Amino acid sequence: KEPASLQVGHLEAARVSYDPPAPGERVNGAIVVLVRNSELDGLRKSMRMFEDRFNRRFKYPYVILNDQNFTQEFMDGIKMITKNEVRYGVLDDTLWGYSPSVTPNQTEIMLERNKNRYLYGGSLSYRFMCRFQSGMFYRHPLVRDLDWYWRLEPDVEYYCDIDYDPFVYMRDRGIKYGFTIAPREGRRTVESLWYHTREWIKKNSHLLPPRSLVNWVMGTDGHYNMCHFWSNFEIVDLSLYRSEAYESYFRYLDNATGFFYERWGDAPVHSIAASLLLAKGEIHWFEDIGYKHPGMMHCPRDPEMHMKCVCDPARSYTYRSACQTRFARVNNMAKERMLQLIDL
Ligand code: GDP
Ligand code: MN
Repeated sequence: KEPASLQVGHLEAARVSYDPPAPGERVNGAIVVLVRNSELDGLRKSMRMFEDRFNRRFKYPYVILNDQNFTQEFMDGIKMITKNEVRYGVLDDTLWGYSPSVTPNQTEIMLERNKNRYLYGGSLSYRFMCRFQSGMFYRHPLVRDLDWYWRLEPDVEYYCDIDYDPFVYMRDRGIKYGFTIAPREGRRTVESLWYHTREWIKKNSHLLPPRSLVNWVMGTDGHYNMCHFWSNFEIVDLSLYRSEAYESYFRYLDNATGFFYERWGDAPVHSIAASLLLAKGEIHWFEDIGYKHPGMMHCPRDPEMHMKCVCDPARSYTYRSACQTRFARVNNMAKERMLQLIDL
């Protein structure tokens, strides 16, 4: 018998082909980044790893957005990291601003009240950011015409070779939402989010599919269990966010005051929406993508992945995460059943 290292399976796995993908074997997608000038260093690190692990080969363009003008230093610093196309966009106040339902004065009062209650509790810019990422980014002129996006942030790490195109993988299987890490949200940041979600569901149940993975975010008590996909990594078929249902849901939330008076994050908003609007087969855990955002990391434990990754699976958050376990376990729930539960 051949030693393990000479067996065909191993050789095949190790023989990564770096041929560029054939035309048609790509989607109309981009890597989308929201970033401040001050985060140049952190973004260079993220992009260096992202290029080495994936994009040097797959050549997706970057769309880099900012609420301020980019400095020349920033653009020069990014240019040195990639040969791929980089498009820069600046956000105007139609995309980066207050919800119509809130006032700057009352916001100031609420930030003061919340500043010691949770991380970013007193930050106004964080509120703009979360609202933008929840309901605005896909309307930006540089994102509007994309069918797919992959979110990248400064100071994240990619640990494994990604030798196939996750966009194409998703497209070919009808997957609309891809994630790596699924933690629990701090309850205090979303105190009334589920209340408003329930109100929206009751008024708009005609927009919901007959079955969905709502089960993942909702317990049998009809309440939100704080599970969410950590949206600093997400790969999404943007038709999800451009659907009538998502648009309606976002508008409804924007007309409640929680993006500012609480601190609703785009992660719980996206996650609740994806769970309400998609079925289990349309949401995918990219277990093979080793990833770290400050605070938590995912490292694949499959021994086969060891030759492609440089992380320690024993330190992976994801195999201990209750929400991740729940994701593996739950199945779709019928709309009627959900309507019963939220009414209890
Ligand atoms: P965290 O991941 O929740 O800790 O929040 P981050 O500070 O990482 O912000 C999330 C993303 O939004 C990152 O890509 C940041 O660069 C970006 N971001 C946050 N606040 C601002 C801001 O005020 N202006 C800009 N241009 N980007 C921001
Ligand atoms: Mn971040």
